[in-house]
Amino acid sequence: MKRLVWPLMLAALLAGCAGEKGIVDRGDYKVDTRRQAQAAYPRVKVLVIHYTADDFDASLATLTDRNVSSHYLIPASPPEKGGKPVIWQLVPERDLAWHAGISYWRGATRINDTSVGIELENRGWQNVAGQKRFAPFSAPQIDVLAKLARDIIQRYQIKPANVVAHSDVAPQRKDDPGPLFPWRALAAQGIGAWPEPDRVAFYLAGRSAYAPVEEGSLLTLLERYGYEVKPEMTDVQRKRVISAFQMHFRPTRYDGIADAETEAIAQALLEKYGQG
Ligand SMILES: [Zn+2]
Repeated sequence: MKRLVWPLMLAALLAGCAGEKGIVDRGDYKVDTRRQAQAAYPRVKVLVIHYTADDFDASLATLTDRNVSSHYLIPASPPEKGGKPVIWQLVPERDLAWHAGISYWRGATRINDTSVGIELENRGWQNVAGQKRFAPFSAPQIDVLAKLARDIIQRYQIKPANVVAHSDVAPQRKDDPGPLFPWRALAAQGIGAWPEPDRVAFYLAGRSAYAPVEEGSLLTLLERYGYEVKPEMTDVQRKRVISAFQMHFRPTRYDGIADAETEAIAQALLEKYGQG
C-alpha cells in the first residue's frame, strides 16, 4: 500500500506547485495557458484624439463624472515632476472609456469598444462674426501627446489610418480636435496617416486646388477610406463628412465643398493606406 500512495502524493504535490510553468493559480481554480491561439489580437485598434472645449479643472470634473470618460487627459500646460511632463490617466487602457459616443470608422461602429481616447485641454472654438475660431494647442502639450501616442501605437500596433479625430468617427456631431490640431507634424514623427505630397500632385493633375469636383464621387472615396457615408444623407450631412476630412488632411480650407485637392488627397491616402 505504502509503495502506491507515495508516488501519487508526490504527483499531487507537484501539480499544486505555484511555480508550474503556464499554470496560473486563481485561488479557487487554475487556468492552463500553455497553448496560446494564433488568432489573438489586441482589443485596441483605434486611437481617438479629442479636445475638451473647457479648462482643465472643468475637463477633469466632466471626465471623472458618471456620463463620460477618457483614458487620458493632457493639460494645456503639463506640470513637471522630476523634469518630466505629467499627464492624467483616468481609465486603465484595458477598460472601456466613454469618449467616442455613437461612432463609425472603417466598417466598425461603437469605437469606444476598440479604442483608446486622449482628451486635450483646449477651449475649442468661439463664434467670431459667424465664423468658428479655434484655439491653438501649446507646443508642450503636443510634445507629450506625441510621446504618449507613439507609446500606445507601438503597444497595440495601431495602423496609421486608425489614428483619428473624434470628428472623423462622428462627423455629424463633432468638430474636435479641429483644424489647428497638428496632424501633419505628428505624421512626420510616425504618428497617424498623411499623404505623400508628390502623389497628391499626381492626382491633382494640374487642376487648381479649389476647382469643383463631383460631390458624390468624392464621398465615395471618403467612404472607402473609412468615413460613414449614407445614401439618405442631407446636403448638410454630406458637407460635414467632407469638412471633417478637410479639417484632418487639408486644414487651410474646410468648408465642406468638394474640390480637386480634397479629392487628390483622398486618392493619395487610399493608395498609401488602402481601403477601410
Ligand atoms: Zn471629442
